[in-house]
Amino acid sequence: MPHLKPKAPIVIAIDGTSASGKSTNSKLVAKALNFVHVDTGAMYRTLAWYCLKQRVDVQDDKAVAAACRRWKTALKCDDGIAYLEVGGYYPATEIRTAEVSAAVPHVAAVPKVRDWMKKTQRECLKFGSLVMEGRDIGTNVFPETDFKYYLDAKLEERSRRRAADGIQENLAARDQRDSQRAAAPLMIALGAKVINNSLMTAEQTSGTILADIKKRTADREKRAVKGATTEKLKR
Ligand code: C5P
Repeated sequence: MPHLKPKAPIVIAIDGTSASGKSTNSKLVAKALNFVHVDTGAMYRTLAWYCLKQRVDVQDDKAVAAACRRWKTALKCDDGIAYLEVGGYYPATEIRTAEVSAAVPHVAAVPKVRDWMKKTQRECLKFGSLVMEGRDIGTNVFPETDFKYYLDAKLEERSRRRAADGIQENLAARDQRDSQRAAAPLMIALGAKVINNSLMTAEQTSGTILADIKKRTADREKRAVKGATTEKLKR
């Protein structure tokens, strides 16, 4: 698919369960479109890592909110990837440990943290058009976008994928926490295309998303032309 050149930046929202292929496919879609890739899970992981490092009790909402108020961060973008630095450092490998994975849903359930993340994630638009992956992008961070995708796969398949990456994790427990929290829970956004990729390769999944983006872009253009014609006739 040729690179899209939208007049104003657009956002492709890719949400879904843990290990449903969000990262792999978001990167493939971002590369195909030449958009900036934003992994919002990495941002929540960065805060969880920071809390653990600062010995903040991640089960104490007030302490986590206070840590989120005081941490010194910078939003960066290099080589088409947006990320959060803390004190001038991006903890790329440290945020992938089992300890951080267990802590992150607690941190992510704190409403003040979600407000901060939403504001920061929306700021990423300054980098241009985005492919943003997470849990609440289509429902909460960019609910206005026309491009919403929800990825899922059978639990056994998702656990198999994590294990292949050398990570043993109780994905069902994390998904349950993410789906049942009060603030911006994981759910399918209105108008999202749901893709269950249990039996699909990454190329097939990203190909499905890219084909749908093409279709939705054409529909948007048709709607815009129709709107302009109706306006002209009214005058
Ligand atoms: O995507 P990843 O598995 O790295 O996300 C880690 C955790 O961050 C999720 O389990 C969830 O608790 C939180 N998260 C979130 N909202 C997002 C992205 C991630 O609550 N938009």
